[in-house]
This record gives sequence, C-alpha cells and structure tokens, in this order.
Amino acid sequence: MNVPFLGTMFDFAARHASPALIKRFYQGPPVAMLNNVVHDRFRRTVRWAASHSEFYRDAFKQRGIDSRRVRRPEDLGDFFTTPTDLADHPTKFLCQRPQMVFESSGTSGRNKRVYFGRSEWEHMGRTVAAGFRIMGIEPEDRVANAFDFSIWIPGMLCHYGAMANGNFTQAFGKVDPGEVYRRLKQENLNVVLGEPTWIIRLTELAEKHGAVPLKLILGGAEEMPTAAIPWIQSVWKGANLKMCYASVEMALAIGFQPCSNQDGYHLDTVDFLPEIIEPDEAGWGELVFTTLYRRTMPLIRYRTRDVTRLTPGGCPCGSIMPHISRLRGRRDELVVASGGNLYPLMFERILESVPGISHDWQVIFRLDGVREVLELNIETTRSDFGELDREIHAQATALYPDLMKNLALNIFSLKIVHHPFGSIRSSRKLKRLLDLRHDPATAESLESREPIQIGV
Ligand SMILES: [Zn+2]
Repeated sequence: MNVPFLGTMFDFAARHASPALIKRFYQGPPVAMLNNVVHDRFRRTVRWAASHSEFYRDAFKQRGIDSRRVRRPEDLGDFFTTPTDLADHPTKFLCQRPQMVFESSGTSGRNKRVYFGRSEWEHMGRTVAAGFRIMGIEPEDRVANAFDFSIWIPGMLCHYGAMANGNFTQAFGKVDPGEVYRRLKQENLNVVLGEPTWIIRLTELAEKHGAVPLKLILGGAEEMPTAAIPWIQSVWKGANLKMCYASVEMALAIGFQPCSNQDGYHLDTVDFLPEIIEPDEAGWGELVFTTLYRRTMPLIRYRTRDVTRLTPGGCPCGSIMPHISRLRGRRDELVVASGGNLYPLMFERILESVPGISHDWQVIFRLDGVREVLELNIETTRSDFGELDREIHAQATALYPDLMKNLALNIFSLKIVHHPFGSIRSSRKLKRLLDLRHDPATAESLESREPIQIGV
C-alpha cells in the first residue's frame, strides 16, 4: 500500500476512532505497517514544523537541513531539541494558534511551557482512554483521580481519559491523601491515580485504618521505589499496581505497563518515534522522542535527559511494543563523584531493604576543603543510629563493592544525616543527587535544614 496514504489514513482514523478501536490498534498492528505509518508521520511532522514554526525553520536553515529530504531521524544529523530550547523560547515552537498551556516542573529550575490545541486534547483523551483499557480500567470502573491539576498536565490528561473511557470519576487533584481515603468507600471508587509518594502515604493510611477493595492503582510522574510495589499490593489486598512514564512535553505516556511486568515500560511507538542516543557499552543512553500526533507544538528529537535502555531479550510477555528498562535516573542527575559514576537507582537499591526509613532521601556531594563528602540524607523513625548506619554500610558494600572500596581508600568521606519523616522533600520533584561541590552558596543555604543528629 502507498506509504503516505497509510499515515494520512491513520491520522484520520485516530481522530474518529473509539477508545476500544484505538486499543485494538495498539495491541496488534503488523510491525511493517506500524513502521511505515510511523515514518510517514515523522516525515510529515518535520515538514509541518519546518514550514510553520520559527524555531524549526531557523534551526534547520542554520544546519543546512532540507526538510523535504528528511525521512528518518538520522537524516537530521546532530539536530535535537532540548529542555533549554523549550525554556528559552517556547512560543517560537508554535505552528498554529494554541488553546491550552501546561508547564513542566522539571528538576532544573525554570519551568518549560508546552502548548496544545483543542482537537489534540480530544484525541489525547481517547488515546489515554485506550491506554486505560489496555491496563485494565473498564468503563464500569470508578476512578479517583489524585494527579495534580494546577499548572501541571497529569490531572487534566487523566480526567479527559476517564471521560472518554466512560468512567465515573472524582477529580480530586493532589489533595491530602486522607481526603481521598475517606471517599473511596463513599463513592465506591476502585481505581486510584496519583504520584508514587502520594500513593505511598495513602497506603500508609490504609495499612493503619483498613483498606477498601481496589482493582488498580496507577502511578506516574516519578519512578515507584521497587520495594514499595509488593507492600502496596498487599495492603490493598491484591490490587494491581501499574506505572506510566510521561511528562508535560510528552503529554501522552510514552511508557506504560500493559502486561504484568512491573519492571520497565512498553513504549508507545504509535504516537512517538523514540530513540536511545549515545548509548554506553551496555546500551544505556538518553531517551529522545519525536511527537507524531501534535500540530500545535510538535517536538522533534526532544532530549528527555532520562537514561534507559532497550530491555535485553525484550519483555517476557512477547508484545511487539518495544520494552525499556526502568529509568536509571535523569542524565543531569548522573554525577561523576567518589571515584565513579553515581546515579539515583544505586542509592535506592542500597536503602530499599533497610527498615525504618522513608522513600524520600537525597544525596548531596560537597567539598570539605578539597575533600569530597558524600552526604546521604535519610528520613527515619529509628533512634539506633549506629546500627542503622552499619546496616546501610553493609548493603552498600554488598551491592557496590567498588564504591565502598573507594571509601576505604579515603577517596571520599561518607556522612549519613538522619531527618524526621516528611522533612526532606521541599518541592514537587525531589532531586535525588545534588552536586554542590562547585556551588558553595547553595551548600550553605541547605545547612539550615535541621537534622536529627549527624551519624558516623
Ligand atoms: Zn510486557
């Protein structure tokens, strides 16, 4: 079949299809047809952007890129869009008059603005609904949506999804988990949507006061700590827990869990063209995506800064959707320190089996004179700090002997700082690794945070 015609047909069908039909397409398109559709939509997105947006027109001109000759991502050479481009001049990306704007908190300070049109939102709602169905949310389910509304996207996006899916829903926004807990029974809500740390607090309430039967808990916006997954499912008496990987820039989730595998995500290669760039020898690299469904503000080869890799051997479920590993951390959170490459998942693994500490922790790298200090800030309810620190050392030694060998060699010092529960997180997204070795002013301002006691 004529390739351009396939893409056009797909876009037309997607605008008019029901969530049930979209679900069928996601689950079973022939690979060759999917590739043709994706590449045709990529080509048309690049042409559209080059002829309608100031940013792309200028950037392509500077690099001598003729958009009419671009068929695949590699035809764009070293052209990428970055979070900095988006923060610097978001309106230059616009290709047509927008009707909605959302902001992205990111972890790097300035908010990024992403614009959408109304018809895109209607399409996104039906696509989210199809994703809900793939993950087990049927029209008769009753949804508690506790994702944030405000200036962020997930609350509104899931609201559109629940509406398109035909669900009864209570749109809470990110309110006190106690408010939602009280209403689960009142409205017979059986599906809960929210951020991982929020879900953990809701689960603590259920553990203390009793759980109602839930069918599914759906998290996103951050990774769920691995150790929390079996605990959450057991407190909620066998409810399924699934995660989505999305951002304001993606809008739709690029990663989701349609099967029972909770480690990593299947990729949505219908709405996005994903790439993993600059991979290391084990395949870990930065995830980059191109949006294929947006015309108001398409993002072409957008660098997410998130580090992942294609799961070796794929997902055991056998789905044709490619599978990526759990995110190893943001690229800008990888810190070369203490004689090695350190990333957030390392510390999560060290801390997950130590009892009496919360899921909120932060590592701060400082300089004491010229000496490097790895300061591990944890929240704990325990008072036996000596024993607690010994347990953390033992875990770190078992999992990362090279790191601890550098400690033994005095390449750096380790300082464990104990805080009360709920005191480390000061903003919506917790930056896990904070490198203040060359930023003494910020290092000093953080000193005012009151620890319980400084450990060994
Ligand atoms: Zn799978």
